[in-house]
Amino acid sequence: MPKTEHWQWYVESWGPTEEHHHAIESVYYAGRSAFQQISVIETPVFGKMLILDGDTQSSQADEKIYHESLVHPAMAASARPRDVLILGGGEGATLREVLRHPDVTRCTMVDIDGDVVELSKKFLPEWADGAFGDPRARVIIGDALKFLATDRDAYDLIISDLTEPLEDSPSNILFNDDVFRTIKARLAPGGVYVLQASTAAFHNCSLHAKMARTLRKHYRHVRSFYTHVPAFDTDWAFLACSDAVDAAALDADHVNAYCGRLRGENFFYDGETHRRLFALPLYLRRALAQPGDTFS
Ligand code: SAM
Repeated sequence: MPKTEHWQWYVESWGPTEEHHHAIESVYYAGRSAFQQISVIETPVFGKMLILDGDTQSSQADEKIYHESLVHPAMAASARPRDVLILGGGEGATLREVLRHPDVTRCTMVDIDGDVVELSKKFLPEWADGAFGDPRARVIIGDALKFLATDRDAYDLIISDLTEPLEDSPSNILFNDDVFRTIKARLAPGGVYVLQASTAAFHNCSLHAKMARTLRKHYRHVRSFYTHVPAFDTDWAFLACSDAVDAAALDADHVNAYCGRLRGENFFYDGETHRRLFALPLYLRRALAQPGDTFS
């Protein structure tokens, strides 16, 4: 699309010399909560988009690529996905994907920012697709760190769908050894912890590698996987961690049988996609194998 005078632009900046420009058709909301800057806009290519502190969180056109990747490989690996915990997850799409599994009896979502949840319900109802009203959903508005400090339940699957742990982000406090230990202590036997784990681009994978290096101190199996998310304009990585199961080792038949049990149809994930998600390019395998700094 030509960049014409009449468009206003949302510019996501990757650095001083790299930007992705999205034309803005309309602004549904722009304001500041107690925790972050929130915008909900309409764009010609990606439809509605949620932006927090200048970072795209998800878009209407391709949020299923992100949310199916975050939830299903880990849930397919989980021996018994009954009780699930989501840290963050504001828009409700992670909740939606979890609740598609018929064996899930409860899914707790803890997001610090009630404004993100309410604005998502109002402007982005397609994301949750009714999940907030599901009787199995327990939505708690509060700091995930505080929740983890007092909650004593054991979860079959814990999903971290937090904003990037940048210095000024409310998620930053959740990325350190103590919290990783606490999360592990809340996993039921056979449990899996999965997190959205930053970018996997060849020039921008150091934060992902740092997360992986740290989590390897805590779990027997720590598997990176990634996919391209067009609205993010980059490759996005995830980490599946468990002492019991190696998510990368699931075969296509197992994954397809798992997908067949989900309510409704997948957009992105199946047995073949699973293989592709866990097949990492050489530069990423090298970055992951290198020694380097860790969260402490
Ligand atoms: N898809 C996203 C991305 O690309 O980074 C992440 C999705 S989701 C919108 C991130 C959520 O994490 C936000 O709703 C934010 O309020 C929540 N969050 C950040 N810090 C948190 C904390 N300490 N406790 C609970 N939720 C938190």
